[in-house]
Amino acid sequence: MLITMKEMLETAQKNKFAVPAFNAGTGQLLTAMMESAEEKQAPVIMAIHPDELKFLRDSFISSVIYEANHTKIPVVIHLDHGATYEQCIHAIRLGFTSVMIDGSLLPFTENIALAKKVVNTAHSVGVSVEGELGTIGQTGDSIEGGTTKITYTKPSDAKAFVEKTGVDSLAIAIGTAHGIYPKGFVPKLKLELLSEIKNIIDIPLVLHGGSSNQNDEIAESVKRGICKINISSDIKFSFMKGVEQYLQEKGFEREPNVIYPTCIRMCRNTIEEKMALFNDIDKVKCFC
Ligand SMILES: [Zn+2]
Repeated sequence: MLITMKEMLETAQKNKFAVPAFNAGTGQLLTAMMESAEEKQAPVIMAIHPDELKFLRDSFISSVIYEANHTKIPVVIHLDHGATYEQCIHAIRLGFTSVMIDGSLLPFTENIALAKKVVNTAHSVGVSVEGELGTIGQTGDSIEGGTTKITYTKPSDAKAFVEKTGVDSLAIAIGTAHGIYPKGFVPKLKLELLSEIKNIIDIPLVLHGGSSNQNDEIAESVKRGICKINISSDIKFSFMKGVEQYLQEKGFEREPNVIYPTCIRMCRNTIEEKMALFNDIDKVKCFC
């Protein structure tokens, strides 16, 4: 069941869970997500970054749409970190039901102008839009980018941004970073800041860079109103660990259908841990 982000996150907000947005960086990751979503009856967001789309090619989106249309699980196809108006339009034409316009590195007024322009066009064809305010850090090894320094979202700016742009959801910076944190580094979320923003904004809030954060902090952020959490690095890490492990144990192998099933299984373990952590399991019934 292909739905928009607005429909997905309004239901999540009402029922106090967060939907994981997994980056489908390759076809096997898509398979892993769909299998886990079906088995756990967990709604899921298929996120694809412009760099991933370039690698996967536009035709990949037809497979995602086919998967979404042939399951009873609610699925959103979401452009992760659209950098320009043109990238968002391209995604909408391919059939994405949600786009993110990330103008977070632009000056505040330019970020507003760009997001508003995307909202006007996307809404006219029923596609949802996610904006971002504040900057999410990066650990230096992720496709989603970011800056090395986190600029925390200011609640008053967030309120003005939402009012002026009409975005359907907002990614906020409360202390997460893209990528996997260096060994020994303990990330800390500003949960009070999240509550402060939540108190003055009605639309669903989004957390990026959710890989490798403390589980208890993530669970608490869901309780405090986060409705979507992006996970990219963690699932790719599990999948590629599976490849490494297979080749180390069994030696060279040629056939993808021989190597990948174990890797998909390892990836699914991580996917299902996240679904449980976000309170997403068995939530398909909330959409009936
Ligand atoms: Zn992100």
